Amino acid sequence: MTATHCPYCSLQCAMDVTPATGGGATVTPLDFPTNRGRLCQKGWTSAEVLTAPDRLTTPLVRRDGELVPTDWDTALGLVAATLRRLRAEHGPEAVAVFGGGGLTNEKAYQLGRFARVALATPNIDYNGRFCMSSAAAGGRRAFGLDRGLPFPLTDLDGADAILLIGSNPAETMPPFCTHLAGAQNAGGLVVVDPRRTPTAAMTSEGRGLHLAPLPGTDLVLLLGLTQILWSENLVDHDYLAARVSGVNDLRASLAAWWPERVERVTGVPVATLRRAARLLADASRGRGAYVLTGRGAEQHAHGTDTVTAAINLALSLGLPGRAGSGYGCLTGQGNGQGGREHGLKADQLPGYRSITDPAARAHVAGVWGVDPDDLPGPGKPAVALFESLGTPGGPRAMLIHGANPVVSLPDVLRLTDRLRTLDLLVVSDFVLSETAAMADVVLPVTQWAEETGTMTNLEGRLLLRDRAVTPPDGVRTELEVWSELAERLGSPVSFSADPSVVFGELTRASAGGVADYAGFSHDRLRDGEALYWPCPAPDDPGTPRPFLDRFTTPDGRAVLHPVDETPPDDALTPDMPIYLVTGRVLQHYQSGAQTRRVPALNAVEPRAYVELHPLLARRLGVEEGEQVRIRSRRGACEAAARITEGIRPDTVFMPFHYPDDGAVNRVTNAATDPVSAMPELKVAAVGIERAGGAA
Ligand code: SF4
Repeated sequence: MTATHCPYCSLQCAMDVTPATGGGATVTPLDFPTNRGRLCQKGWTSAEVLTAPDRLTTPLVRRDGELVPTDWDTALGLVAATLRRLRAEHGPEAVAVFGGGGLTNEKAYQLGRFARVALATPNIDYNGRFCMSSAAAGGRRAFGLDRGLPFPLTDLDGADAILLIGSNPAETMPPFCTHLAGAQNAGGLVVVDPRRTPTAAMTSEGRGLHLAPLPGTDLVLLLGLTQILWSENLVDHDYLAARVSGVNDLRASLAAWWPERVERVTGVPVATLRRAARLLADASRGRGAYVLTGRGAEQHAHGTDTVTAAINLALSLGLPGRAGSGYGCLTGQGNGQGGREHGLKADQLPGYRSITDPAARAHVAGVWGVDPDDLPGPGKPAVALFESLGTPGGPRAMLIHGANPVVSLPDVLRLTDRLRTLDLLVVSDFVLSETAAMADVVLPVTQWAEETGTMTNLEGRLLLRDRAVTPPDGVRTELEVWSELAERLGSPVSFSADPSVVFGELTRASAGGVADYAGFSHDRLRDGEALYWPCPAPDDPGTPRPFLDRFTTPDGRAVLHPVDETPPDDALTPDMPIYLVTGRVLQHYQSGAQTRRVPALNAVEPRAYVELHPLLARRLGVEEGEQVRIRSRRGACEAAARITEGIRPDTVFMPFHYPDDGAVNRVTNAATDPVSAMPELKVAAVGIERAGGAA
């Protein structure tokens, strides 16, 4: 039996994994501050993916259009020879790398180093770009630091009010909801979501408020709440004077957002806006209040500004950096936080260092044993990277690790077409995902409980996941893959396949950076210490609450940035008069590559559906369960109608876990935020018809 953590979301619930006789394993929950002995259904069934019937155990190469089994030597030889040829003919930028937000810190770090040293390419990014990039950008410009929650999750327990905007943890991470109970009991849970989600339903019976704004208007809603705080003199003037810059500019920027105008834009009544603002203000002066954002607010072409508006609200109340109060964003993917701290992001080096900073380049190059001048510069963020594939001067080969972009990309038909233009697509995975099925070479790799590595959870806490079961014959770890590929490519330096050696190097590369891991080691984590970054030395206790004394800006003060309304990129038209929003369901995780292979989960939610209000259904002539077609300017998908009063009549919802005709990302918009490069996955203008003919 090995104590470890769940393979899925950033809550990283603690569990024991016990190998089962005859293969596979069982899991049992462990008591841990974040999950308190609970697991959601995804966690309970997570071990089933280890023995998925279609588990890959031999490399595959494409011959005459078909993927056929081969041996590792042949597969790696083919990959290395093709990469060498493409680099010789077109330069190192001909190779691109795309990583996943579930890779361990060791793998995220090593993949970043492999791309920049062994391949010498700037073209690396990761699907965490679709998770936290707007929250990260907003946090950095206000606080100088991006750590999802700059406080332990248990701090939420004592708050009188929590504003949760664009997040549905009752389905995405159910054990998290135990931390909302204090606010519920105080009548102070405020949920902002255009749907009556299970999380929004937690506000019923006097336990809080559910605000259901028009999709794409979260920013205006936040401007309105902040304006009420200022106009009713509910802000914390002492805190603002002591710890915050930009107060006058913010105040002036709010003047036009009187509540009646906000009601007109968002559809949320003035009285509800005032109740929410006062509730938060009362709590901030009582036991405490928190403002938390999620992807619903962030995955927009103006997501960074929406996050900034949420931070402005929190700063006006004096919450960030105060014991018992705060601002944070809820990371989605298991290691969305650690992945961007250690080099998967196009513009970052380990330790959350900028790849354009000469001192950062010199430090990291020193650890890596290369000349700083040999390190490439910043690459392209995910959407731009995919758009560049196969274009003149663009990448002609791509290596994908731990991601399934053929389901998860926005405007997925157009961007998937770019993959078809490549000379070489190499996918490492443990099952034949939709993306692996398109590859020229598929490398079967270990997963989660079969390898040792660390994860950084949504609180910035380091967790060790020790190897708990023996991997099947024929698979390799990705660290082993990169080690051998680097050698075959003639890399100037070697790449260790030992996760503890890689982690040691990571800690040295991060030393002195914003995300300083220098004080961490596998042994320290194995001892069970609760360690949060930054942690600059082996005897340093780590930093659970980094903002208590000062923010990470040059003068230690948080910065208010005025922002203003920006409508969704898609305008509603007579032909496309309905807003589509997307999200997750209880049973599935991200692209569904894992959870769609768990029979108990797939039996409950086996295919795509679309939620629509009875009024809309009646107008369209659509019956419950009927197949409908959802189309946007990008493409169309199909789903079974699910009629519910828990959604606005002008809005429909679809989960994004499904491939092929049920892939909602055929419809979503790849327009990106100018600061974070986050695509607008959360709102699109659509038209809907009965699949059998026009409604
Ligand atoms: Fe916990 Fe998330 Fe795993 Fe569910 S999916 S058990 S909430 S870590």
